[in-house]
Amino acid sequence: MTFLRVDKLQIALPASTKYDPNAAAAVQELLGGKFGEMSTLNNYLHQSVAMKAKKKLGGFYELVASITAEEVGHVELVAATINALLDKAPSDDDPEDEAFQKEKDYRYTHHTILGGPGHTVANSHGQPWSGDYVFNSGNLVLDLLHNFFLESGARTHKARVYQMTSNETARTMIGYLLVRGGVHQAAYGLALEKLTGVNMTKMLPLPNIDNEKFEHTRPWQAKGEHAKLYTFSPEDYRNLGSIWNGTAHWADGAPLEVIQGAPEGGDAPEGTPNQAGFSPDYEPEEIFEIAKRLMRNM
Ligand code: MN
Ligand code: MN
Repeated sequence: MTFLRVDKLQIALPASTKYDPNAAAAVQELLGGKFGEMSTLNNYLHQSVAMKAKKKLGGFYELVASITAEEVGHVELVAATINALLDKAPSDDDPEDEAFQKEKDYRYTHHTILGGPGHTVANSHGQPWSGDYVFNSGNLVLDLLHNFFLESGARTHKARVYQMTSNETARTMIGYLLVRGGVHQAAYGLALEKLTGVNMTKMLPLPNIDNEKFEHTRPWQAKGEHAKLYTFSPEDYRNLGSIWNGTAHWADGAPLEVIQGAPEGGDAPEGTPNQAGFSPDYEPEEIFEIAKRLMRNM
């Protein structure tokens, strides 16, 4: 597998974000929690690498492989959101005057102490993400069933974090991921149905927790993002349509569509260079000047 990186977030985040470190702490669960994006990414990455007879598995392999690529972008999107929530103008307090006094009282002190401030690869209580969260059984049916469960749990946690904050940037990100998680949930459900005949929509309504309940999912539903599965490749994974076909009968009946390629995406927020307290470093302006000089010499 070769990864090609496009310098975009999967969606544009709002240009400015209300500073909200406690919301950032809650959002950490969606990054490094057991049901967070690090887990979906690594489950699908390691399952797809380990699968034998990938060509013969066709759409079953390609489904897990292409969703892997989408999950890398989700890790990035959630992390970018956390960093946006932590972004604020640098403090000009004298470090001797407890410049980080307020940060002491935030519920997630690692954002300041380790990240300066920035996200960590941990859950909302600071427990590091663990490889124990990866289930890779070598049994396709079990793995797909696990992935269906994982996406269902992930959407539950997203819905709960959505209700913990009214922050526009956090909700923009969560709204999009609720829709995309619904696609993944449905895709694994369809794969199981095609493999074993089981009707997953009778087991759980799909998506479990209707997207329509959340205001921030509606723009994505209106764009048909609940019915699109992306290959995340310019050429490969051409058999996805063998799984992802028919209509979104669990939602509005929209025709299921495989898109060769990736979503258009949007720019990541630039953020404010932070230089507060005792943080030994170059001044940001010095680094910008060096970078500018190097680019001029190209
Ligand atoms: Mn995801
Ligand atoms: Mn997913």
